Amino acid sequence: MAGHKRVLLAAPRGYCAGVDRAVVAVEKALERYGAPVYVRKQIVHNIHVVTELEGKGAIFVDEVDEVPEGAHVVFSAHGVSPAVVNAASDRGLHAIDATCPLVTKVHREAVRFARDDYRILLIGHDGHEEVEGTAGEAPDHVTIVNSPEEADHVVVDDPSKVVWLSQTTLSVDETMETVRRLRARFPQLQDPPSDDICYATQNRQVAIKKVARDADLVIVVGSANSSNSVRLVEVALEHGAKAAYRVDYADEVRQEWLDGVATVGVTSGASVPEVLVQEVLSQLAGAGYRDVEEVRTAEEDLMFSLPKELRQDPSGRRDERALGGRGRA
Ligand code: SF4
Repeated sequence: MAGHKRVLLAAPRGYCAGVDRAVVAVEKALERYGAPVYVRKQIVHNIHVVTELEGKGAIFVDEVDEVPEGAHVVFSAHGVSPAVVNAASDRGLHAIDATCPLVTKVHREAVRFARDDYRILLIGHDGHEEVEGTAGEAPDHVTIVNSPEEADHVVVDDPSKVVWLSQTTLSVDETMETVRRLRARFPQLQDPPSDDICYATQNRQVAIKKVARDADLVIVVGSANSSNSVRLVEVALEHGAKAAYRVDYADEVRQEWLDGVATVGVTSGASVPEVLVQEVLSQLAGAGYRDVEEVRTAEEDLMFSLPKELRQDPSGRRDERALGGRGRA
């Protein structure tokens, strides 16, 4: 028999400033140029967001050579390599760059350290779009380090000129373990000038750690290809949750997960609209979990202005929706 049934709702959760900006950028481009507007890769890693934008006339493609010449194409929040920018330009596409400014910051760091002839150890998941984009800024200088274990084997030519950078959406704890192992091998390893793991990723991990301590079960709303959502499941399990699962939609919550469960923790990844969390809460309420307590560990009010290509309306006036930022948790 479960005790008093309750939900601990993590905050911050859900949309970050970079995701909000990217989604608004596609909506704005559709409004301004009419459908279809092409988007290279998923604008953000959430199936619901992508499906909704498809309904409004966005067409998602894998590469710019699938976009008709002269059309508008939006680059996703995860960023693109210079090779993609050049390919779009060669095709005469009108590109709108919705790369999150915090990803762009990491790109700039990569360019700068490559110029100074550093070996850049980029901690991140090989094959993830963000890592491809960042590595593409300095392909001859970047070595991808996927895990703490890989840190034990990575080879560099000059151990006196090594710096680590990272993907923005990793587990903070696992990344620090990777760095610890790298530094044990390369004592002169330099740190990035500022944190590469972004504020939203860090805040959501801190909040779910606090929730997980008291949770029999944690439900993370987010898509399977969303790095920060998948990390939230891992972090919850590492910090005391007896079980943790990821769902895209409320109807994926299985009855057997709730057997004997008193406290359910709920959170969502940085690309997840709040409506999906509310649907999970309704589902849980139907199963007797009506008592919802928010566990807040940070306030967020960061906003990014829209991509520069969209900041002015066609008559030259500054667009009143130039700021994103609907994504306060
Ligand atoms: S998760 Fe972080 S890096 Fe990614 S879009 Fe959001 S703020 Fe930007």
